[in-house]
Amino acid sequence: MNISKSQKLYSQALQFMPGGVNSPVRAFKNVGKTPLFIEKAKGSRIYDADGNEYIDYVCSWGPNILGHAYPEVIEAVKKSCDKGLTFGACHKGEVELAQIIQKNIPSMEMLRLVNSGTEAVMSAVRAARGFTGRDKIVKFEGCYHGHSDGLLVKAGSGLLTNSIPDSAGVPEGFTENTLLAKYNNIDSVAELFEKYGSDIACVIVEPCAANMGVIPPKKGFLKFLRDITCQYNSLLIFDEVITGFRLSLGGAQKYYGIIPDMTALGKIVGGGMPLAAYGGKKEIMECVAPSGSVYQAGTLSGNPIAVSAGLATLKILQNNPDIYNELERKSYLIESAATDSGLNVNRVGSLLTVFFNNAEIQNYDNAKQSDTKKYAEFFGYLLENGIYTAPSQFEAMFVSAAHTDKDIAYTCDIIHNFK
Ligand code: PLP
Repeated sequence: MNISKSQKLYSQALQFMPGGVNSPVRAFKNVGKTPLFIEKAKGSRIYDADGNEYIDYVCSWGPNILGHAYPEVIEAVKKSCDKGLTFGACHKGEVELAQIIQKNIPSMEMLRLVNSGTEAVMSAVRAARGFTGRDKIVKFEGCYHGHSDGLLVKAGSGLLTNSIPDSAGVPEGFTENTLLAKYNNIDSVAELFEKYGSDIACVIVEPCAANMGVIPPKKGFLKFLRDITCQYNSLLIFDEVITGFRLSLGGAQKYYGIIPDMTALGKIVGGGMPLAAYGGKKEIMECVAPSGSVYQAGTLSGNPIAVSAGLATLKILQNNPDIYNELERKSYLIESAATDSGLNVNRVGSLLTVFFNNAEIQNYDNAKQSDTKKYAEFFGYLLENGIYTAPSQFEAMFVSAAHTDKDIAYTCDIIHNFK
């Protein structure tokens, strides 16, 4: 495969951007390769600067559930551009988008539009703290909630001790109120509540984890989180940045039938543009400025172009509910091809991860034991065969509505032949 143009662009990029990229996982470091520079994308395909074509299962890390450059979404964006790029003032699209989100995710009684998943989660946590008047939060090892200071903690020095930040530049004081529990382990949560219960503002969780590879919640896990947060008057926040509008129109909360107090959305809600949202019960959201005293603002929040892309995407999903059955069918075929070949797969709906690890993967400790060298081999093999997947073991494969039966059959064949 000729990737000389990508290689040249990468060497230039290295001079100007840390690691040559604008977001770390794009650097292909975990798979020991040169990142591809993408020229264009359409439907299920992406094309690199050298003209190579790939079936894309990254889908921009989730937003492109309809595939790339879906005609009605592009049309909506073009029309919106003609009216101006940003107003810094209220507009009708914001109201329409809020209405369609609220209709499909009724627990978001009120919501606010922001620009990224990081911002949505950070703001939701602030609102939870403001509403409860408490400082501590519980998060789970291996769950990613964006790169705000207080949430950059995955592995700490133990459950009941203060958390150690994962990143340089985050003072320990910024994470001392972040308590760590183990995903799918109710005892680890119960212990934290026994010790700190009346100080815990919220539990934040990916209702189906997808940032340590895909790890579904065990039966009863989310219900337990719902019950214990109610018992201690803490809030339950679902980070549905990945799962929102992906596992179902109503997100993971509809899929699993557990209703949180607050929800963070990103990715699909912006239809491929920088837009995210957080919201929840009215009495909580009314704490946010200017109604209340929790400050949160944004120059480009509710940007009309981003809103038009989100709105068009959500309308298409809403008008074509069969998309979710189709995603399930196609994703199941990929899962089956992998399991038939002896690979270990976790899948929920159109999110899946092939783990190079023989154990059942239920939490971060299990996921970390995976053979990342073998994953890199798998990644390289798929890429050589025109299939673009996440350049890291600890990410999801995203199936989109644009993947044709032919794409899926080809992908299954290639996976079957992996040695
Ligand atoms: N929450 C989850 C579950 C995510 O997967 C991500 C990003 O992948 C974020 C939050 C942060 O979103 P963003 O990258 O838009 O800031």
